[in-house]
Amino acid sequence: MERMIFATGNPGKMKEIRMILEGIGVPVVSMKEAGITAEIEENGRSFEENAVIKAKAVMELSGEIVLADDSGLEIDYLKGAPGIYSARYMGEDTSYDIKNAEILRQLEGVPDEERTARFVCVIACAFPDGTVLTSRGVMEGIIAHEIKGENGFGYDPVFYLPEYGCTSAEISPEQKNELSHRGKALRQMKEQLEGMPGFGGAAGGNAEI
Ligand code: IMP
Repeated sequence: MERMIFATGNPGKMKEIRMILEGIGVPVVSMKEAGITAEIEENGRSFEENAVIKAKAVMELSGEIVLADDSGLEIDYLKGAPGIYSARYMGEDTSYDIKNAEILRQLEGVPDEERTARFVCVIACAFPDGTVLTSRGVMEGIIAHEIKGENGFGYDPVFYLPEYGCTSAEISPEQKNELSHRGKALRQMKEQLEGMPGFGGAAGGNAEI
């Protein structure tokens, strides 16, 4: 097996993905590097459905093994919103300063015990023979009372990690990789892939002979 494609156009995500999947014995390339352009409609009803839709669509276009992810923020007080609509919440082009301020406004006066939230990430891997693997990672926290921190992206400045006493926009990228929903889902996917034929770790593993 020569390579796998990760169905994302986000260079930040690719960097994280490569770091975590290193040692799997099969290089991972982005859609751009694979020369594939596709607008895939994420019309699933769950993170799982959306990740599988993306992975399968790109696998069918390329004929190769394809990984895809779907992620978002679930806020319990808002009945799980924005959830699978996290990127589209208040409009795709609306800045996160505005989105985050709106979340704080909606939770104004809500006590900490009712501000529970989590980032969720599901990774799907679609093989040309029809096999599909999925993995899920979660990072639990609470919605902060103010926007804080310069690291990360998206909703990180309003996602407070009680055990660290700061938001996920205030921890280092390395720390975030360790804790994050995406890091956890990727490491779990790595374990599943290592059990598949043709994959092997750096130590002793060999790709297809
Ligand atoms: P995706 O790229 O379709 O998975 O969209 C996920 C959306 O969820 C992003 O655009 C962010 O709004 C949000 N999100 C997912 N993971 C994170 C994170 O680690 N920090 C902050 N926001 C995130």
